[in-house]
Amino acid sequence: MTLPPTTLNPKRTVSELKELRALTSDVNGAQRVAWTDTWLAARNWLASKLEGLPVEHHYDAAGNNWFTLPGASEKSLLIGGHLDSVPNGGWLDGSLNVIAGLEVLRRFATEFNGKPPVTIRLVDWADEEGARFGRSLLGSSAFAGTHSIAADRGRTDRDGIKMEDALRRCDVEMDNLPNAAIEQNHAAAYLELHIEQGPVLEGRNLPLGVVLGTKGVERHNITFHGQEAHSGSTPMNARRDALAAAAKLALELRTIAKKHPDAVCTMGSLKTFPGIATAVVGRSEATLDQRDLDPGVLAQMFREAQEASQRFAGEENCTVDWSRIWSIEPVPFHPELLDLCEQAVREVSGKSVRLPSGPLHDAAEVARAGIPAVMMFVQSLKGISHNKIEDTREDHLEMSVVALNLLASKTCDWIIRTK
Ligand SMILES: [Zn+2]
Repeated sequence: MTLPPTTLNPKRTVSELKELRALTSDVNGAQRVAWTDTWLAARNWLASKLEGLPVEHHYDAAGNNWFTLPGASEKSLLIGGHLDSVPNGGWLDGSLNVIAGLEVLRRFATEFNGKPPVTIRLVDWADEEGARFGRSLLGSSAFAGTHSIAADRGRTDRDGIKMEDALRRCDVEMDNLPNAAIEQNHAAAYLELHIEQGPVLEGRNLPLGVVLGTKGVERHNITFHGQEAHSGSTPMNARRDALAAAAKLALELRTIAKKHPDAVCTMGSLKTFPGIATAVVGRSEATLDQRDLDPGVLAQMFREAQEASQRFAGEENCTVDWSRIWSIEPVPFHPELLDLCEQAVREVSGKSVRLPSGPLHDAAEVARAGIPAVMMFVQSLKGISHNKIEDTREDHLEMSVVALNLLASKTCDWIIRTK
């Protein structure tokens, strides 16, 4: 790996990640849950790292944390991540993006004597994880204008604290969230580096990958209705077993997903009622989560799951009904930025692969706002994330900083060339 001729210091990124971990973790992992004191401490720590750089610092109306290095052009290259974590989280999810972005910002500031050709902005999004109130991508969706205040106003955490009050404590008023959209002004491109959080890159022995986009999601409750009956007196052929129908569907989902290379279908929860050893199950409640990057594939899988549920309900003399929990369309990233990202990944690691992201990321919200966006993944060890054992090889972390820096330079040129 050859370093480009800059002041970039990827080893500093690794040591700063460890510094942040020491400041905001306990024996169970990272505790940077959004709207808590530990999260605020992490944000203050980040601000202290930018002291001495010619950057403007402010929090927007949604609590997103912006550092702006003004360039010769107002057109802005955005680099983003999130310092917030899930409870007992890992040291890299979200924070690698921010701290690698910080290193790239430093490089731009020194290489161009404080005045790069385009404006460079580092953003630490507020509440990406939604860990406390169950609302993910809060800050980036406010930025994108896709957030609905009405849907979130009534949310409370486990202790009964209202979301509205928790935000107010951090100087964010829910009614003002839409004002974060003003930060879209002059945004010309958005880059996000992230750990993969899955096993694909490790399985293919690749340090880095290009993210095609974030998969769309169909998430539903499926309820089968049969008849509760005594387990001793009810003959097998007289049963209306709501679990049998759900069990058939659970297995059929694998067939439905396997027709497509990157699709996934999961029955993550199944409850039975009355749920005792001596009764045939009269009602079963299952959840379904389906994901793919192709809207056609997602629609087909949804249709096939519905048809299968009807068929199995019929076979077991049950009925079935569906209710949508949540859904989002697939968000493909910008084709020209995908090419630039692939070039950067190849130049740093010699090879590249394009893969979709199963998890959602802030980059999806930015792309939904119509801003050209792309993400780069760095390999996760064992594919584990949202856990204290989340990890990535340090040489891979360093490569990811070099690759993000290269991508930032290429994107900077692209902004000047195309706008
Ligand atoms: Zn993340």
